Order: sequence, then structure tokens, then C-alpha cells
Amino acid sequence: MNYYINVILPIPLQKLFTYKITEAEATFLNKGMRVAVEFGKSKVYTALVYKIHNEPPIGYEAKDIHQILDETPIVNEFQLKHWEWIANYYMCSLGEVYRAALPSAFLLESETVIQLLQNFSNENILSNEEFLVFEALQHQSQLSIQQIIEIIGKKTIFPIIKDLIRKNVITVKEQIYEQYKPKLIKYIHLKGEWSTSSKLNELLESLSRAKKQRDVVLSYFQLQATKKPIKVLELQKKSNCSAAIIKSLVDKGIFEYYFLQTDRINFTGNTSEIKELTKHQQIAYNEIKKTFKTKQTTLLKGITSSGKTEIYVKLIKDLLKEGKQVLYLLPEIALTTQLIERLQYYFGEYLSVFHSKYSMNERVEVWNNVLNSKQKAQLILGARSSLFLPFSNLKLIIVDEEHEPSFKQYDPAPRYHARDASIVLAKMHHANVLLGSATPSIESYYNAKQGKYGFVELNRRFGDVLLPEIELVDIKEKYRKKRMKGHFSDRLIQMITEALEYKEQVILFQNRRGYAPFVECETCGTSPQCPQCDVSLTFHNYKNELRCHYCGYRQAMPHNCSACGSEKLNTKGFGTEQIEMELEELFPTAKIGRMDLDTTRGKYGYQKILGKFQAKEIDILVGTQMLSKGLDFANVSLVGILNADHMLNFPDFRAHERSYQLMVQVSGRAGRVKKRGKVAIQTFNPFHQILQQVSTNSFEEMYKEQIDERWQYHYPPFFRLIKITLRDKDYNRVDEAANWLGKSLTAIFKENVLGPSIPSISRVRNYYIRTIIVKIPQKNSLTATKKHLMRVKNTFQAIKEFRAIRFNIDVDNY
Ligand code: ADP
Ligand code: ZN
Ligand code: ZN
Repeated sequence: MNYYINVILPIPLQKLFTYKITEAEATFLNKGMRVAVEFGKSKVYTALVYKIHNEPPIGYEAKDIHQILDETPIVNEFQLKHWEWIANYYMCSLGEVYRAALPSAFLLESETVIQLLQNFSNENILSNEEFLVFEALQHQSQLSIQQIIEIIGKKTIFPIIKDLIRKNVITVKEQIYEQYKPKLIKYIHLKGEWSTSSKLNELLESLSRAKKQRDVVLSYFQLQATKKPIKVLELQKKSNCSAAIIKSLVDKGIFEYYFLQTDRINFTGNTSEIKELTKHQQIAYNEIKKTFKTKQTTLLKGITSSGKTEIYVKLIKDLLKEGKQVLYLLPEIALTTQLIERLQYYFGEYLSVFHSKYSMNERVEVWNNVLNSKQKAQLILGARSSLFLPFSNLKLIIVDEEHEPSFKQYDPAPRYHARDASIVLAKMHHANVLLGSATPSIESYYNAKQGKYGFVELNRRFGDVLLPEIELVDIKEKYRKKRMKGHFSDRLIQMITEALEYKEQVILFQNRRGYAPFVECETCGTSPQCPQCDVSLTFHNYKNELRCHYCGYRQAMPHNCSACGSEKLNTKGFGTEQIEMELEELFPTAKIGRMDLDTTRGKYGYQKILGKFQAKEIDILVGTQMLSKGLDFANVSLVGILNADHMLNFPDFRAHERSYQLMVQVSGRAGRVKKRGKVAIQTFNPFHQILQQVSTNSFEEMYKEQIDERWQYHYPPFFRLIKITLRDKDYNRVDEAANWLGKSLTAIFKENVLGPSIPSISRVRNYYIRTIIVKIPQKNSLTATKKHLMRVKNTFQAIKEFRAIRFNIDVDNY
């Protein structure tokens, strides 16, 4: 009998590849375990076993696997089923989902490069094979996995690399891969033979003149009374003795060290009782529970600061008691320490956080804890990718701020929407989903109205604080009357002055999009462009340089115009940095902080700034989008939006919806606890319907208008959209290809094809871009549409000149 496996390779391959295994391997291997295999031109990949069977593949000879990498499955059936749905729905390969789902430490690859660690010299501890690698690294600064295979002359090299890493000989260079090393903690215990009381007395007797050693033994017994394993460090502290003294007792054979693996994500500290819900919160909570009996998904529309989080907390509490798993999804950026702290406070040892800013090791740890249904991973708080964790007992998924665009992954594939994918995941687990927002997305609100989702509303702020008073400031008028100082109207200046007088804090919001400051030549009007993209470079005052926000290109600020040589270069537009500078002039005694992509890099970037703001070390905080999300500060009484027009005029069918959401969310940061807050929105167009709706808090009206437009112009939720993007370095070729594709699609989908069009940023990193959108009416089968689309794609890629063109499909691209 021959044995074969089908595996998922972490690459965009439509079919599952087959490998041959031995009978012994067949008894050991299971679905969901990883194997190292060779694919293509002797490249080695970490593949996932999908199926074990006896059918040889048709059309090629199955290769042997290199080795088995796991002892037990690291991926479960729920996940595989969910991945299949994602691959299918979002039109990508299972391999792409696999790649996105696993922490990259699980995906060792042949492109991985290793390097020698500087200070290693003890060659004696190396095996012969290890030495070969070590020696090769004396001549060559780095080696790829492939080269190591050649040096050693065999393919099962992963254990050798692992050992070399463990022995601190080498390190993995690529960021993609960090060796997973469980963190070990040193513990200590008394050796068995001393545990009888007679032996013990003898011991203490013998130490009567070694006072310090005696102290150690006595402290040990005091610690032992707590019945917990004793850390060496604890013992040291308790006995007030040095490590050397403890070691001398170990050397005498009285104590013994041992090591335990610990999680590096350890929340200690005390937890507290959850808050008692107010009457209105309790009603909402009861209603949610009730809807869950008949609806899988419920939308909770609760105004800002109504206490949605407290309701989530209550729901979570119930389920943790029952031993169930809960996933709490947040938009990436909102993973503020504020919420983590709040949940930690309630759930302490039950909570794990899964986040892209965490290290590889931390992520592997969370993965393993979820896989093994550990208590400390019963509640997972994370961004969209935590959807891929190996849950087996999931009972509730909370999608907080469900309207947030960052739940959608744009690049690379899988281009999934975490809210939608979580509803499917929940179905597989027979779990519920709670979507929460003060400003639900049009789609979710529509689904709730249609009865597809349960619907619960919470219209009172905690403490009955009123929603902020919103004032629209007409800056066209202000400019005309010369009542503007820089970008600030006299009215906004007055409001800030008042807030500062009362020692209250101010948040100023500056939408980033389109407001990046750029440089313009006063003489000829030219602005410096990115050499690789079709955009103007952004001016960064702080480093006095120009940067491209699309590809990262940077250059020093030039002294004269590259077109005409003039030295008269002006900076235009206004970014957060410029606002900060203007504020410093207007309010010289105020402390000003800035929160944007530049000031929040690194794991603790946000934390630092928000911590300062919380501690009132900052009076005025200027920031971008990030400020709108979930922040809860008691002392903020004023929120200013510097210019509302640009977001309203953004060319996208969602621009109005998004502007409404953004402005309401930012406004929601004002006056959350004590007294009613104020909001000033500066605009050239105070009669714009969206601004009117924001200022009167008319979500319903906004929704009605938007849904009418969606209906009229064939947009979601009435039509689904699939966007195709072509990219190529050759302008003419991509143009020709886009025309070909447009024609072929129009032949099938008729008037439901938009484009090909040239996007407003038509070249990025030297790739020219064309897009086509296919609209799918509700009555049409999505499956059939996708089939047609795949057929066209295959024909497209069979055309020789088009083969190299990048072809991306994005389902529900909004
Ligand atoms: P939302 O998530 O709806 O914006 P939060 O849950 O952040 O609102 O609540 C706003 C503020 O009110 C928080 O500071 C929170 O601690 C407080 N709060 C809400 N509900 C209660 C309650 N039942 N008891 C005590 N404080 C509450
Ligand atoms: Zn010029
Ligand atoms: Zn660029």
C-alpha cells in the first residue's frame, strides 16, 4: 500500500499538491500537522497536511516529504473549514489564507537566511553537522536554508538549525522568522532526601554556623507554605541572600534547580468585580441575550459613552464562567492600552491579547494557549487576524466599532473583511456575534432593519451626560472677514481659550487624507514628485525632508526647484505637524501633543502619548483618525475638527457615510463623564447635509439618504462589488491588458462592469495601475459570477504578453 498526503503550501497555488509518505509516517501524521517539503526549484516550504490517502497524483510523480515538523496538529478542523470559506468567498488560494493565518514563526522557508552570532567561540559543543554550518559561516556572512541543505548533503536540516539557534551559534536574519523559544524560569526545590523531619533537623543543625545558608533554608520553608513552586529569585529576595549562597546549597546537594516554561504574556495584578449595569444598560443586555436565542448576530447601536464596553464585559463574564471561549475583535489601531487595561482589570488571568505589534514569540504562545484551550486564552482581544486562532469552543465574537474600515484587509490576499468572516466563523462554532457601534455601517444597519440581525439600541450616555453640543463654523465667511489665524477661526480660538481656562483638555482632529503638506515652487508651480509613484512628496518639517507616503521614498528638502531652479519653495497644505506649530504660537503656555503615524511608532508609541494625555501632561492633543477610536478621557471638554470638507469630497461611494461616522466618533470624545462637551467643526460648507446630520445627531436621516443613493446607483448592500486591479511596469502593456479585460468582462456582465479606469494615484513603486469593478445584483448567483470571473482570469493569464501582469481580485472591496 502506498500513502500520500495532500498539503497546503503557503503560496498562491490553486491546487493542493500531493507528496508521498512512508507507512510509518502515515500512522504518525494527522491532518493539521506541518511537514517540510520541497516545491518548485528545490525550494523548501512548511506545508500543512490536509488529507492522507492512497491515491497517487495524476500527471506528476509524488516526491517524498523531507520531515514531519509537529507531533500533534497545530491547526484544527474548524479552522480548515473556515479557511476554505475565506479562500472561496474572497477568491484566493488556501495557501494564501494559510500564510496569513499562521504566526510566521510557524512557517520556516527556504528563503530564510541565517547568520553567525558574533560572540560564539565554543566549537566543542557542536556536532559534526553543526560544525559544517559553523565553518561555512566563517567564509560567508550568511547562508540560506537551501545552501545549508547543500552543505550538509541532506534535507532534514531543520533540527540542526534549531539546535544551532538553541546553542546561540546562529540567528535567523529575516524578520519573517524568529525562532520560537519558550521562556524558561528557574525554580528551586529541596531534594527529596531532606524532606523527613529528622533529616531536616540534621540539616539545620549542620548549618548552624553558616547563618546565611540557614536563612535560605528557613525562607524556603516560609515560601513553601504558600504551596506554589518557588522561583530562585523569590527565594533570593525573601532570604536576602545572594545567588552565590543559594548556589552553594545546590552544590552541596541540598537544593536542586529546575526550569518551567512560562508565558511571557503574563498579566498579574488584582482583578476587580465588574461594574453594575445601569437600568438602561441592563435592559440592553437582556435584549441582546434574548435576540441571541433566535438570531446568530445582533447589532448593538449605542451612542458614544453609553457603556457598550460594560455590556460586553457582562456578556463575557457569563461565558467565561461556563468555560467557553470569547473573541473580542477591535479595529487594529484601537488596540489602545486603555481597553486592554480595562479588560485585564476584570478578567486578569483569562485574557490574552493577539496583536501584530507583538513579537513572534508572543503570538506563538497565544496560538498554543488557544489550541490547548488554556484558561488564560479563554478571552482573546485582538485585531482582525485573531480570527485565525485555533478556537475549538468559541461561544461569542464581539466586533467592536464594527463600522471601522480597518477590519478589511486590502493587501495581500486574503482580502477578507473580519466582521463578515467572523459571522461565518461563529456559525461554524454555533456561536453568537455582537456587532457594536455608535455609528453602524450602512450594511449592518440595513441587515438589522431587514431582520437578518437582531437589533438593540442604547441611547443614553452613562451618567446621563448629554451628547456634545456641535457647532458648525463657517470658515468661508471667516476668511472673507479676515477672522482666521492660520487654520484657526476666531471662534475655535475662543473655545480653546475657554477650555484651557477651566483646565480642561482639548482634542483637535485633522483628517490626514489629502492634507499632507507638500512643497510648491512659487515661480513655476512645480511640486516635487515621488520618482516611483504618481504623487507629490509630503513635507516633514521635523526632519526637514520629503517623503512618499505610498512607497516610503525619502529625500532631503531641496534648496531650489528642480524644474526652474528658483529658490522660492513654499510649503502648502496642512498636516498635523503644521497645526501643532500654529498652536504653539497661538497658545504659547499650553502643552501640546501630537498623535499621528509619525509619533506613534513602536509597540508603546500610542501608550506613551495617551498616557501623557491621561496624566494631563498635555493640554491640547492634535491628531489624525487614530483619535476617533474608543478613547475615554474624563477631562476632555472640547473637540475641534479643523476642516470637514476634504473628507466629504473624497471620491468614493462611502465618503459621506465615513465622514458621518468619523465626525460623530471624534465628537464622542468630548464631555464623556462630567459635563456636556463641545464640538466645533470648521467647514466651507456648513449647509452640507452630512454636517447638518452630524450636528443634530440624525443617524436615521443619514441612513435613509445613503441607502436611497445606494439603491439608485447600484451599490452595496443592493449590489456586491468585485474589484480587479492590474499592475505592471509597462504602461502600454497594462493599458492594453485592461482594455482586453474590460471587453471580456463586459461581454458577460454587460452594464455591470465599471472601467477600466485609471485610479487617482495611477502609479505606485513604478507599477502602473488599472482597475475594473464588477457589480453583482442581489438576484445573481455569486458562485456563478465568480466562476465566470475565474474563467476570464485564466484566459487572461494564458495570453503570453499578459502573463507577467499582476492580477488582484478583491471581493467586497469597500
Ligand atoms: P462606550 O463603549 O459605549 O463608548 P464605555 O463603556 O467606554 O462606553 O463607557 C463610558 C464611560 O462610562 C467609561 O468610563 C465607563 O467606565 C463608564 N461606565 C459605563 N457604564 C458604567 C456603569 N454601569 N457603572 C460605572 N461606570 C460606567
Ligand atoms: Zn520652479
Ligand atoms: Zn513613492
